[in-house]
Amino acid sequence: MRKRVNICWFRRDLRLRDNAALYYALREGHPVVALFIFDRTILDKLRDKADRRVEFIFHAVMEMYDGLAAMGSPMEVLYGEPMEVFGRLMRKYEIMGIFANGDYEPDAIARDSAIEAIAKEAGVRFSLYKDQVMFEKTEIVKDDGHAYSVFTPYCKRWRSMLSDFYLKSYPTASYFSNFLQDELIAPPTLEELGFKKTNSEFPPINRSRDMFRQYGDKRDYPAVGGTSRLGVHLRFGTISIRELARYVMEISDKFLNELIWREFYQMILWNFPEVGQGRAFKKEYENIVWRNNEEEFDRWCKGQTGYPIVDAGMRELNETGYMHNRVRMITASFLTKHLLIDWRWGEAYFAGKLLDFDLASNNGGWQWAAGCGCDAAPYFRIFNPYLQTKKFDPQLDYVREWVPEWADLDYPAPMVDHEWARKRCLEAYSGALRVLRQNG
Ligand code: FAD
Repeated sequence: MRKRVNICWFRRDLRLRDNAALYYALREGHPVVALFIFDRTILDKLRDKADRRVEFIFHAVMEMYDGLAAMGSPMEVLYGEPMEVFGRLMRKYEIMGIFANGDYEPDAIARDSAIEAIAKEAGVRFSLYKDQVMFEKTEIVKDDGHAYSVFTPYCKRWRSMLSDFYLKSYPTASYFSNFLQDELIAPPTLEELGFKKTNSEFPPINRSRDMFRQYGDKRDYPAVGGTSRLGVHLRFGTISIRELARYVMEISDKFLNELIWREFYQMILWNFPEVGQGRAFKKEYENIVWRNNEEEFDRWCKGQTGYPIVDAGMRELNETGYMHNRVRMITASFLTKHLLIDWRWGEAYFAGKLLDFDLASNNGGWQWAAGCGCDAAPYFRIFNPYLQTKKFDPQLDYVREWVPEWADLDYPAPMVDHEWARKRCLEAYSGALRVLRQNG
């Protein structure tokens, strides 16, 4: 006989504690089966079979698997397409409800709608909860009910809305006895999923009070390790946003601000999904004629531009899957403004490499740098890589770490002259925007 269960489907919320969907699933009554799907529609697209993200997810899922196994509860860790996997699960169990936390990316929304449709057809309840952000969708809107497109007023309202209610943890552990008790089900190995180990070191969950206390002063200097490196944990939900916000609120207002930026971009993606599908937030920027020189793009990717701070960032990214925020801004500005290469090329490159890759923040960051995003850097603000280095890496510690040959004769000369490229960029941007104004 098929067992009557509720399914808790984990996606970007890979933890058993303080998890909204899990809390509601466990409280609902029927025994709960935890599920993770290694989604082949996503995995098959990854050309590099040594992928840090897949490995990070694999470890996080195994941690949950072991935690459940210790309680005598099986976890379904499956490989396949979600539709097909749910078909399999519906034959195996009598599913009463599917519980999951919401995801605001266009592909995830489409996936969830498809699963919701088959669930409905089978008379199964499908419920999504808010978990990865404090405020979602249209919870923070302007007085006229429209979504914000400028950060400062959004941030102000976000802060005024925050109360203990939103910060409270979901006490899942009190209901752990409601997990299904049954034989364990062997999970696939990383190799069976078609992936190899990368031997990466993943940043631990950083709760250093000192780091948070000094964050405001140190966060802009790439050589000093003054940021949290929590990006990947926030991306995959190995840390709860509520727990983190509660902890840092008292220590660093600046850090809280960055968490609000994260929510701002999630909110933008939800309300303006076209930005996640390759469209500029500011339509007039679609008019820019990008040069898109492939050889130049290749030099940027490899960290061979002849600008040490740009090259250091790209090499750090290529070797570790991480790049410091200040340097993300510098490299992105260099690609779009100095080289006049379409921001979508850079966005895609970062998406393939960043351990903390997140569609909303990556897209937001790239559109900000290119000038076409909501609340973006104005097009005439063109980062001077030399001045940025002087200000944020004055002793050249960061440059020396990643570009040890920067002062040698065989280090390439700058691939474009800064002043010349700046003028070329201003002409290209102002020309494109002027054309539109005339036509409009
Ligand atoms: P910390 O400085 O310790 O910040 C803590 C957390 O706050 C981060 O982990 C992140 O979740 C959030 N945060 C901080 N700054 C921002 C920001 N500007 N926008 C949104 N959230 C922020 N962040 C991603 O999480 N994924 C991406 O794919 C991504 N791509 C980016 C691309 C570009 C071109 C730019 C300019 C920025 C991008 N960012 C992205 C934002 C930021 O660079 C990273 O969040 C940050 O560098 C991660 O390091 P950390 O965890 O040490 O950050």
